[in-house]
Amino acid sequence: MMAVVIDGKQVAQSYRLKLKEEVARLKEQRIQPKLTVILIGEDPASQSYVRGKEKAAQEIGMDSDLIRLPAETTESELLHLIERLNVDASVHGILVQLPLPQHIDESKVIFAIAPEKDVDGFHPVSVGKMMIGEPTFLPCTPNGILHLVKEMNVPIAGRHVVVVGRSQIVGKPVGMLFLNESATVTYCHSKTADLAAMTRQADILIVAVGVPKLITADMVKPDAVVIDVGVNRVDGKLVGDVEFETVQEVASMITPVPGGVGPMTITMLLHNTIEAAK
Ligand code: NDP
Repeated sequence: MMAVVIDGKQVAQSYRLKLKEEVARLKEQRIQPKLTVILIGEDPASQSYVRGKEKAAQEIGMDSDLIRLPAETTESELLHLIERLNVDASVHGILVQLPLPQHIDESKVIFAIAPEKDVDGFHPVSVGKMMIGEPTFLPCTPNGILHLVKEMNVPIAGRHVVVVGRSQIVGKPVGMLFLNESATVTYCHSKTADLAAMTRQADILIVAVGVPKLITADMVKPDAVVIDVGVNRVDGKLVGDVEFETVQEVASMITPVPGGVGPMTITMLLHNTIEAAK
């Protein structure tokens, strides 16, 4: 039996319809939710992500403002801009598109964003609250993955979730969210001794690395749920970290790239911005 291909686009679309209604309700109360995105430099991938975010915001009736700055922008200029946005009552969410140019300290910038406008969920206050299970802005890709898995009615409590990748924006927090849902969580990374031995134990396998075809069919337990977060460009085509064609024959469910996790990420950003406006 071939795996069910999880339609992230479809799940994202129906969630966004609900968000659109929420925006309409807020507008009735004279609150116009607004997301401000700061983009520094000309990185093509970042430009395309930012465009996607703007378009999605507009589609649900949310205001979005894109501030484009040249690659030479100094750290202190950026910090001043953030300070200004922090106190601007018309702005509910602030997102600084990463990665930043080398000469700007990413953590300083993340720390500068007011936690109540931290719609990316990267501020240490947000991360700490997530860690202790308090309500907060959850990071968008991890929360999108959790939502997608729940939407597919996949049981989580007591299941073995194996996460490959331990970045601050995907791997580490996604494991934490599933732990908070009572999964048993294993983290793997570049120093993991026998990756296949770990991934073969996964009931739910989440892969966020950035290496095409890292995960092949022999590394997946029959009937596992496979979530492919990777976005890689190979011969001008987008592919994930999982060898889709072969793993599809082993797994019970699998996310495609594109059209899996990606649309959920933006949806959770919209969700966070609406929460911020509330
Ligand atoms: P990072 O580069 O920050 O992290 C990659 C992680 O993979 C690291 O923890 C690294 O280990 C680990 N790793 C590298 N090589 C191996 C290996 N051979 N075996 C096991 N682990 C390995 O990436 P991100 O977390 O930011 O992103 C991961 C992927 O997800 C990228 O392709 C990115 O484009 C995509 N992405 C997709 C999003 C979406 O919305 N769909 C959103 C964000 C990212 P170590 O820590 O030891 O170095």
